Amino acid sequence: MAEAPDPQLRKAIADRIRYYHDLGIYDFYRRPIEKSQPVSNVTVASTILEDTEILPDMPKPRTAVAAAKSADRGSALRLIREDIGDCTRCRLHKQGRKQIVFGVGNPNAELMFIGEAPGADEDEHGEPFVGRAGQLLTNMIKAMGLRREDVYIANIIKCRPPGNRTPERDECETCSPFLMRQIEVIKPKAIVALGAVAAKTLLAMNAPMSKLRGQWYEFRGTKLAVTYHPAFLLRDPRQKKETWKDLQMVMKDLGLPMPEKAQE
Ligand code: URA
Repeated sequence: MAEAPDPQLRKAIADRIRYYHDLGIYDFYRRPIEKSQPVSNVTVASTILEDTEILPDMPKPRTAVAAAKSADRGSALRLIREDIGDCTRCRLHKQGRKQIVFGVGNPNAELMFIGEAPGADEDEHGEPFVGRAGQLLTNMIKAMGLRREDVYIANIIKCRPPGNRTPERDECETCSPFLMRQIEVIKPKAIVALGAVAAKTLLAMNAPMSKLRGQWYEFRGTKLAVTYHPAFLLRDPRQKKETWKDLQMVMKDLGLPMPEKAQE
């Protein structure tokens, strides 16, 4: 009989399996094990997976993936929100965030905007981009001939960092898998990364904004463009002209009509 695994190892593996479940990964593969082989982490993981006493609150392989594949993108997004729960996965849950800011908009959107992190207004209302920068984003969307309800808006991380500081790398790494699932469900035709944090996190590239913007990138089967963050545009309105060029590039790709003035 296999030796009972060390409780610390069991806990570590249980935590890891729970983490994978949060990300929507339910299938684990057990490698065939020779009788003479010592018990491996894979065996322990398989045993733990079947042991409901160890993980009573662990969701059983459920419909997250199935729902995501179905036409009902709204339900699939709700499942992701449920998986996030009252998140305590990173330090931000104990640093003053009021609520998780999941994302808002049309689950069938062709266009998705991704910002950095919720600020005070977003934390208060539970919706991304509702403060001053949000108003500017709404105007940018209108200038493209769209309404806020036509697109989907989210952030790299879902909790407000204290004092609106830039998110830490580990916070982005912990949170962004949920955003990846949102993108996977929505399957937009184009994504616009707003600002350096969003662009660098999504593209895993370290370059200045002037180099990142103005071109298309391939991102998980979707086209991605980078432009300036609306909060930056509030500080430096001269860059609005450049931003408008980026948005026109996106409009052209989506087949959106150009306003008369922009065609000149
Ligand atoms: N800035 C962001 O990056 N996201 C928001 O939701 C608001 C401000």
